[in-house]
Amino acid sequence: MAVDKQFKISRKRSGVIRMVILILILVLSTALGVLHQLGKDWVPAGVDAFCPFGGIEAGIYLLATGTMMQRIAWSSFFLLLAVILAALLFRRSFCGTICPLGTLQELFARLGRLFMKKSLPVPGIIDKPARYVKYLVLVVFVVLSTIFGTLVIRPYDPWATYHHLVSPDLFTEFTIGFIVLIISLLGSVVFDRFFCKYLCPMGAFLGLINRIGLFRISRNEETCIHCKACNKACPVTIDVESKTEVHSSECINCQLCVNACPVKDTLYVKGPWKKKIHPLAVSVVTLGIFIIVVGIATAIGGFEWKLKTLEQTVETTGVFNPDDIKGRDTWKQISDLTGIPKEAFQEEFSITDEEFEAPIKDATHKPESGFDTEDIKEFVRKMLE
Ligand code: SF4
Ligand code: SF4
Repeated sequence: MAVDKQFKISRKRSGVIRMVILILILVLSTALGVLHQLGKDWVPAGVDAFCPFGGIEAGIYLLATGTMMQRIAWSSFFLLLAVILAALLFRRSFCGTICPLGTLQELFARLGRLFMKKSLPVPGIIDKPARYVKYLVLVVFVVLSTIFGTLVIRPYDPWATYHHLVSPDLFTEFTIGFIVLIISLLGSVVFDRFFCKYLCPMGAFLGLINRIGLFRISRNEETCIHCKACNKACPVTIDVESKTEVHSSECINCQLCVNACPVKDTLYVKGPWKKKIHPLAVSVVTLGIFIIVVGIATAIGGFEWKLKTLEQTVETTGVFNPDDIKGRDTWKQISDLTGIPKEAFQEEFSITDEEFEAPIKDATHKPESGFDTEDIKEFVRKMLE
């Protein structure tokens, strides 16, 4: 086989640019999470505002009840729109070219490959049924969120947990999420994309609408040399080498197989009218869709980059909901907005005059305090009854 150097360089470059895009998104998302926890002047909105899965839960809740789910920002709907627009073209390209949790898993898988030649396949007898677990996760959390009107998945969500790694609330609110995050990352060291394959409800949702995507991976049987480099590269263990087209709902459109194939015009991304496109176009166009949607949403004031104050939340929703209380809010703000007197808080939580003016998290994070934000919400709820 004659090696086309130019072709090899082009595929390598395509893989590097895809990885650079993924890492930039991971860095941006991490920075927003850290600033949300530790920022003073410019505090971004919380992780829920930057997650498209919230758009699915809240969308169904909105249709069922006509009201907005707690903790949900309009930005989740715009992100979901971008995910679906990208899926119309490239199916699960959000998973393979944008999702920062996917990137984290990919980085851990690369770490694993320093010690092993390739990621290990999970035995078929476990792997096949386990792939359905994510659909169960999707149904369970959408149903529970619709019943309870809040993001039930939050404490179990590894991505929400990742955004709280520097928060003192990590082990009060996210103990299970932390375990899921560790299992997902360590699982990815050995099996690659562990969370995507078995647990991710967003991946399950995209798996369900997978068929609508116009472009898919195609293989030219005539030129294929059956080297299986594609199979080895695939993070979700699809047997690409035996297919003429990849229809699997497990395919995350990462293009790793296409970039790994050593024979020109053998593995490619094919669209309508047999149109072939460069694998890098999948990353670039998907990213472009996100930039355009988020840009428009920001321009029309629908994308919440900045954390809302409690006053702004009450102004938007028209009611004081104790579940909107956050650690950054001061006792005084809550008192002013609810009419609950300062003395009532002082009697219940033994706070000083000085603490009354400070954020409630200053008091809840003291080891000797004996109460947390949930206790304060519960108290406010009872007082408002
Ligand atoms: S990497 Fe390319 S040549 Fe090798 S088996 Fe896959 S499609 Fe065929
Ligand atoms: S088949 Fe190719 S594009 Fe799909 S997940 Fe596997 S490596 Fe990625």
